[in-house]
This record gives sequence, C-alpha cells and structure tokens, in this order.
Amino acid sequence: MIAYDMLLLRFGEITIKGKNRSRFEKAALSHVKVLLKKYPAVKIVREYGRIYVELNGESAQEMISILKHVFGVTSISPVVVVPSRLEDIIEAAKLFVRDLPTDRQMRFKVSARRVWKEFPHGTQEMNRLIGSPVLQLCPQLKVDVHNPELELRAEIREQGTYLYSEVVPAAGGFPLGTNGKGLLLLSGGIDSPVAGWSAMRRGLEIECVHFHSYPFTSKKAEEKVIELAKVLSRFACQIKLHLVPFTEIQTAIAGTGQENLTITLMRRSMLRIASLLAERNGALAIVTGDSLGQVASQTLASMNVIGRVTDLPLLRPLVMIDKEEIISQAREIGTYDISILPYEDCCTLFVPKSPTTNPNLRVVERIEAGIAGLEKLIEAAVSDTETLIIRPDEEVVRQNEEAAAVSDNWF
Ligand code: ATP
Ligand code: MG
Repeated sequence: MIAYDMLLLRFGEITIKGKNRSRFEKAALSHVKVLLKKYPAVKIVREYGRIYVELNGESAQEMISILKHVFGVTSISPVVVVPSRLEDIIEAAKLFVRDLPTDRQMRFKVSARRVWKEFPHGTQEMNRLIGSPVLQLCPQLKVDVHNPELELRAEIREQGTYLYSEVVPAAGGFPLGTNGKGLLLLSGGIDSPVAGWSAMRRGLEIECVHFHSYPFTSKKAEEKVIELAKVLSRFACQIKLHLVPFTEIQTAIAGTGQENLTITLMRRSMLRIASLLAERNGALAIVTGDSLGQVASQTLASMNVIGRVTDLPLLRPLVMIDKEEIISQAREIGTYDISILPYEDCCTLFVPKSPTTNPNLRVVERIEAGIAGLEKLIEAAVSDTETLIIRPDEEVVRQNEEAAAVSDNWF
C-alpha cells in the first residue's frame, strides 16, 4: 500500500479565464472545506487551478470518495510528496511503482515536469533518471511513451516533488451555487432527483419543492422524498425541502369533472405555487424532471400549456435523455433504489385513465376560471408550506417556509 501524503484536485471547465475563475475556485474551495470539516487533521490549500488536500494521516481513499462529489472538480490524484533531491525522488519512485498492482506486463512511462527551474536536471533527463531504476526493479514494465497504461508523473517543485499516477474522475461541471439558484420540483420518481443533480452540477444551488396530498398520500411517501433530498444534500452540504399541501387544490381540480385534463391542471397549479416560492426564496428558475414524450404531460403540446403559467425559465435537464440513461445516472447518484420504493405520489393517486396529450390552452384557462377560489387555494398552499432543512447524516430540521427563507445559507 502506498502511503499518500496529499490529494491533488483539478478543475476543468472553470479554468476559463477572467474574473469568474477566482470566484468559481473559491466556491469549490468552500465546498471542500464544508465536506472536510469533520477531519480537522487535513489541510486545504488552493493554488492557481488546483486544490491540494494534505492528508496528515487520513485515508486517501476515504477522502477521494467524499471529494469526488465536489462540482467543478474534474479529477483527483493521490500524491506522494518527497523532498526535491534526486536520490529521494528516485527512491520514492521505486517504492511508488513497486507498491502499485503491476503483476502483469504493463506499458509504462515517466513524465517529469520541472516547475522549479533551479533544479539541476532537465525534464528529459529526469524521465531517464527515474525510469531506469524503476524498470530494473520491475521487469514486467515495458516503456511505451505513446500509449502507457501506467504513467508515473513527477512534478518537481521547490517545496517538494509530487509523485502520482492514479487519476480518479470526479463530478466536473461548475462549483455549487456559482450559477444562481433554482427550485427543483422533486417528486418521488426516478427522474426529478437526476434532474436536480444535473442542475447542481451546472452550478445551480437547488431548493426542492414537493407536493403531497396528505392524508391521501402517506407519511411513508413523505419520508421517501426526504430520503431523496438527503441523497441530493450529499452533493450540496445542505438542501431545503418545501413540502406543499396539495390536497385541496387536487380535490378542487377533481371536482371539475375534466378527468382527461387533471394532470395538466395539476401541473399548472404546481408551477404557480413553485413560482411564488421561487420569488420568496430568490430562485430564478424552476427545474423539473420532464423528459420529452415520456408521459402525456410531457408532450410538447402539454409542456406548452403547462409552462404558460410562469414567467420563470423552466429548466428540464432530462428533456432529451433516454430513460435507460436516466436510470443509470440515478443508480450512480444513489437515488434509484429510493425512487423505486412503491409509495404513492399525489399525481399517481389522481391519474386519469386517458390523460390528454394535446391540451387546448383556451379550454384549460376556461376550466380554471370556473374553479371557485383557485387563486386563494394557491396562496393558502404557499403559506401552509412546511420547510425542512436537510443535511447528510443529520436530523431533519422543520420550519415554516417563511422562517426558513431567512435562515442562513451554508456558504
Ligand atoms: P419523476 O420520475 O421525476 O416523478 P415522471 O416521469 O414520473 O418524473 P411526472 O410524474 O409526469 O413524470 O412528473 C414530471 C415532473 O413534474 C417531475 O419530474 C417533477 O419535476 C414534477 N412533479 C411531479 N409530481 C410532483 C410532486 N408531487 N411534487 C413535486 N414535483 C412533482
Ligand atoms: Mg412522477
């Protein structure tokens, strides 16, 4: 086993130039700091385009499994640090390669980089000086500079030389919250948690909204959504979940007798409520798990009629993505097994036999105008909303929505 000293976290897309870069890097750094708060031994250092995490005895594997969820970080390498003296570097390189699982023939290459220009040996020379003794020690390695399976990198800096070979892919995207805030409509299904994760990966801070029809929907259904939000909170440190009572509105909609339009009408009311909550919470977009054509409410015609009720941009990260891909993403994020639990959603309860795929806006508006007090019901749903603050591995904190709107952000 190699005893690693440090992790090297790289940024990808955000290494764009300009003043955004520093802002992005600082946001990723804050995220790393929050995630590693419970490991006081580690030291976190930001350098242009990179973050270093000095392990001071903590396990590299454990830290990587936490840090690979930090958005904006594209890859992570565990690093051995040695003094920048030739004999120390060679000795450490030999130990490093000896301890890697290289029990079969492998294509091998050394890539040295002399960052510290005072170091007396050049890059090419260092490749040879490190490579020869390593090859002598490990005869199963064969040099292949064009297509190596094992590439040993040596970055020679004044303060020390960094040796590493493993590059673990990380979440990528933009650091959390660097592109503003969106409100995620979180059902108990497979799609919306994946949509939320995709939005967060694009740098959106997310607050979740869930509509329930208690007592028609059970407490189990609510717990399921809380569990889903909890998984999402692993990627964000903290997430707010707004639980909106939707029973009265659903009952009023059912009372119109327009069975085929039930879903269209429900979705429009959900969006109206979400828009009000977005305004109160400083969100500038609404995110849904809609995927084109998946169900009747996700045809273009339906999306059109439903989307009319809000001026906010409706972001649908999954709109062009196949279900199979969404499922495999859900598995990776860790939401799939929760999503497939059988508890009913408010929509499945009221789902009509043949929902329309082609609703007519005028007809829908006329029906809504006929629902007595719809506006009031929507306002009441907003003011009766309960907000939960969800953090991974912590008890859920319950507040009313207004109190939660003024509570501190984690940044
Ligand atoms: P999902 O798997 O996300 O539930 P779905 O394929 O089942 O999606 P629908 O049930 O038609 O599709 O929902 C479409 C979108 O509407 C969901 O992705 C979600 O964003 C939103 N939505 C549906 N039901 C609710 C709910 N009870 N609370 C909050 N949002 C909801
Ligand atoms: Mg659903």
